[in-house]
Amino acid sequence: MTTLDIAHEKQRSAPKAALAPAPQGGLRPSLVGLTRPQLMDALAGFGLPEKQLRMRAGQIWNGIYNRGLTNFEGMTTLSKDLRQGLEQAFDISRLEIVTEQKSVDGTRKWLLRLPSAVPGVPGPEIETVYIPEEGRGTLCISSQVGCTLTCTFCHTGTQKLVRNLTAGEIVGQILIARDALCEWPDGGRNSEDRLITNIVMMGMGEPLYNFENVRDALEVVSDGEGLSLSKRRITLSTSGVVPMIEKAGADIGCMLAISLHAVNDETRNKLVPLNKKYPIRELLDACRNYPGVSNARRITFEYVMLKGVNDSMEDAKELVRLLKGIPAKINLIPFNPWPGSPYECSDWAQIEKFSDFINRAGYASPVRTPRGRDIMAACGQLKSETVKKRASERFQETRAEAEA
Ligand code: SAH
Ligand code: SF4
Repeated sequence: MTTLDIAHEKQRSAPKAALAPAPQGGLRPSLVGLTRPQLMDALAGFGLPEKQLRMRAGQIWNGIYNRGLTNFEGMTTLSKDLRQGLEQAFDISRLEIVTEQKSVDGTRKWLLRLPSAVPGVPGPEIETVYIPEEGRGTLCISSQVGCTLTCTFCHTGTQKLVRNLTAGEIVGQILIARDALCEWPDGGRNSEDRLITNIVMMGMGEPLYNFENVRDALEVVSDGEGLSLSKRRITLSTSGVVPMIEKAGADIGCMLAISLHAVNDETRNKLVPLNKKYPIRELLDACRNYPGVSNARRITFEYVMLKGVNDSMEDAKELVRLLKGIPAKINLIPFNPWPGSPYECSDWAQIEKFSDFINRAGYASPVRTPRGRDIMAACGQLKSETVKKRASERFQETRAEAEA
């Protein structure tokens, strides 16, 4: 990867959203999602003396990420005057919750509204999904509204990019889930029995086209004195932005998932058009060189099962051959059809045959059982909500077995 490649990718990605606008469209800048140095800079700009910056940033950090505070009032380690001053200057409130749904199986879904750039026009919406399982709970979060890429099996791909999420909006999705799950230590929960144990960046958007904000958000999320989720429990899924993969490993260091979906360039060009730019060979080379990859830190390869397109036993054999030498897990995803989608999901028997084959070749290949179907169905009844439905629908069937 060259610096030029990275610069080029940066240009291709959407224009960076302004640094943390107030989540509720207010005039005050938000402190949520700022890294510690950024937080100290913001406090310096507010006028706090240099020698207080580290301590004050620590106190505010604790209030936001350990206590879940949404205003400065409760930060009683700060003087009353300072709390009032901060309240006037900054915002630490939550994103707006449009709807919250709970499935009979415990899956939860939030439709969240981001601040609007245009006064009077409602802001764009994103989805966040929480899936509880035995001994773990995974939160699927979005990185963009829409997507610049146009994968032909993905509904988000039919929607133009609206904008990148700020780091605060990425982190804000986790804060909202923690509120709803009463997971703040003040709520009496011990750190050992946490409900959100894993984060996957598998919602809307291509996270590597919003690199800086995703990186900053994950730095905040993994900070040991805050939300404290280890990078080993955070998985970033990419459609294959090759020049950014090594940088992601070096600068973010989380687990990697690759949306592979096909074993030859001809098919992958059709499914994931980005493949024309970064073909399979280059993508797999980037995976081999992913910093930190090992048998203990395997890369997850996502493979959507499309009837008659990529689901033959020849495809399965080729998949095993291609991944030889890469510490890998394979996540088979039953295709989720959407109105007008040009594909069908493979037959269940074929998915099982495919899965058995790669299992016998030594790969863990979980097929995701859909979760939260009841709330998906309810959501799907609203036609205009279809695009918003995609992120959770996809996620429920695709979540990578990061901790398998
Ligand atoms: N943009 C990133 C992450 C978000 S998509 C990426 O492409 O990797 C998360 C996963 O859902 C990806 O593997 C994506 O290919 C898959 N996906 C998209 N549409 C789908 C559909 N209709 N059915 C099943 N999986 C789908
Ligand atoms: Fe974008 Fe991922 Fe959908 Fe492709 S699969 S269009 S990269 S969100």
